[in-house]
Amino acid sequence: MPLGEFDLIARYFARPARRALLGVGDDCALLAPAAGMQLATSCDMLVEGRHFLSTVAPDRLGHKALAVNLSDLAACGAAPLAFTLALSMPRAEEAWLDGFSRGLFALADAHGCELVGGDTTQGPLCICISVFGEVPAAQALLRSGARAGDDLYVSGTLGDARLALEAFRGTLDLTGDALTTARAAMELPQPRVALGIALRGVATSAIDVSDGLLGDLAHLLRLSGVGARLEVDALPRSATLAAQAPAVQRECTLAGGDDYELLFTAPPGRADAVQAAAVAGGVAATRIGRVEAEAGLRLFDAEGRALPNTWGSFDHFRP
Ligand code: ADP
Ligand code: MG
Repeated sequence: MPLGEFDLIARYFARPARRALLGVGDDCALLAPAAGMQLATSCDMLVEGRHFLSTVAPDRLGHKALAVNLSDLAACGAAPLAFTLALSMPRAEEAWLDGFSRGLFALADAHGCELVGGDTTQGPLCICISVFGEVPAAQALLRSGARAGDDLYVSGTLGDARLALEAFRGTLDLTGDALTTARAAMELPQPRVALGIALRGVATSAIDVSDGLLGDLAHLLRLSGVGARLEVDALPRSATLAAQAPAVQRECTLAGGDDYELLFTAPPGRADAVQAAAVAGGVAATRIGRVEAEAGLRLFDAEGRALPNTWGSFDHFRP
């Protein structure tokens, strides 16, 4: 007997509610954010062939589907509460469901974020998650708060996910440990939730880097009504990426995509507070430039030479 819709929900996704007032099983879930907190919500969809390769292990896919959503909460400085899962899949395959739900719940448990509902249907493989988090009133980090004179920072390292993608596309050779590390960056991104929370009251603006640094930085600058100077050679990268050709390093760090690091700004006088937040967040924060009043983005190399901006950002409708 193939597994039916409600059996599979019960077996793989229904878990008793903990913090939610009501979880999976009724028409709606009920959440109760703490007094004085605002509800932060975001939704991200992953489509097979578009956002992930069909070869990815199901547990890693479960992890990544939630990770990209938690990354949006992180960028707002919100603490995760709950999520819903809309799942379309061609068949109810138990081995796949088992792996997918294990990867999903491992990350959910690590962040105290519970699955409170969803929808399940037969169709092309597509995973759509909505997350809900809470943030103290008026303390959410926004894209629009950067001010001229602020320092520009990024967490962690950039470019490894793109490096792995290029290896799978066959445009460059990557083997052994280098491939394993890059692949883990692509398939198991770590949402910077603790850093986002620690940056409340410190960062003046923030965004998570999902479509490539240059593209996401452009969003932040536009919404803040400012420009910036970016030190291209200061962009943090792994030893794996640093071993690649200089042009590959530039492409992957500037326009890589799928990084899920936080890009944020803070006044120079808060540099120590930024580093304390990085310690609390368990990830490095590297200064990569400065916000300027003049609109637009200006790129410089380590010798202070201006570089032309020839890199693009990822856009689903402009290949
Ligand atoms: P409805 O028809 O009222 O929208 P469904 O019959 O689709 O509800 O789903 C029954 C219950 O199972 C609901 O509480 C729904 O939120 C939950 N649910 C459905 N699919 C999932 C899923 N993939 N993960 C978690 N909960 C789910
Ligand atoms: Mg209903």
